Amino acid sequence: MQVQSDTSAVRPSSFVTQERSAVEPMMPLPYPLEQRTIERPQMCVVLPVFNEELVLLRTYEALVESLDALDVHWKVLFVNDGSRDGTVGVLESLYQRDNRVGYLLLSRNFGHQAALTAGFEHSVADIVVSMDADLQHPPALLSNLLAAWRNGYDVVHTRKLTTVGLDPGRSLVTRWAYKMIGRVSQVDIIPHASDYRLLDRQALEALRTLPEASRLYRGLTPWVGFRQCVVPYVAAERAAGISQYGFKQLFGLFARALFDFSSLPLHAGLLLGGIAVALSTVYLVFIVLWLLLGRERPPGWASTVGVTLFLNSIILAFVGIIGVYVARIYNEVRARPAYVLSRIRIRSGDKPDK
Ligand code: UDP
Ligand code: MG
Repeated sequence: MQVQSDTSAVRPSSFVTQERSAVEPMMPLPYPLEQRTIERPQMCVVLPVFNEELVLLRTYEALVESLDALDVHWKVLFVNDGSRDGTVGVLESLYQRDNRVGYLLLSRNFGHQAALTAGFEHSVADIVVSMDADLQHPPALLSNLLAAWRNGYDVVHTRKLTTVGLDPGRSLVTRWAYKMIGRVSQVDIIPHASDYRLLDRQALEALRTLPEASRLYRGLTPWVGFRQCVVPYVAAERAAGISQYGFKQLFGLFARALFDFSSLPLHAGLLLGGIAVALSTVYLVFIVLWLLLGRERPPGWASTVGVTLFLNSIILAFVGIIGVYVARIYNEVRARPAYVLSRIRIRSGDKPDK
């Protein structure tokens, strides 16, 4: 698959060492930074929304306050991901009240990443920023993201230093999981990165052209290259409502990061198989020599059963791993869209050209 190829353009060597600097460039940059002098760029903020009725109004107000303070023409695009509460009503009232606000309705819940895909495909702007709708991504940081863009960066990631109120168990699991992913993944998935991210129009276009339906933006955005950097921040507590990401979702996310961006599990099969073949060969040579020397036949039951069980379980495990990849290939070959739209509430001038 395309995501497995060259990733050398981006190498996040410096964000480990420069813990608290405002901007951590992902070195080496493929070409030098150039200051952007464009007067008042257009900025579109994309927010996936799932059951956020309680917080949406506050999110909107905080966004307006931060966006009005920036020197940009801005608009906000909410993507309702099949919410089952009163979210749609709040979105419609915001749409009526402010002509800089638009929203998309998906036909059911497709998941956070699919909702982001919908938002990206319907945003037309010089700069597109994705962020969560629960105020965990502080709108006040938008000015830092914009400053990095003005300094010439095309992709500005953010990285959580800590999350206020996150329980220590979850924080430990998350840290450990990122460490594992860092070892096995073939793209640089930034540890503790969130989907709070600025994309220049060019990087967004590149993302849009990727053919895969199953998208994990934490892996894909480093993959597209261009000049990238990371801005660290302290994530706030959820303003209201409950997190939709339990341990199950977290595990799913890391499984995708592993299988979408790495073929290591398949290579592990080759390696273990190779070792098993070498050991079996040595054992066979030993048995043949033993018989040729006219010795008594070695007592065989325990070793036969042991070797058979061991090798068969390895084979079964790797058939399972191949199955995971086949399921993913099947998913991509079927080429179903990532989401289905049921309503577009975007004012005509803001619609994409296609
Ligand atoms: N979200 C979504 N679809 C889902 C789950 C979540 O669009 O199926 C949205 C949610 O409304 C929020 C963002 O994705 O704006 C992040 O979700 P959440 O806050 O539950 O995740 P966490 O911050 O706990 O990682
Ligand atoms: Mg959240």
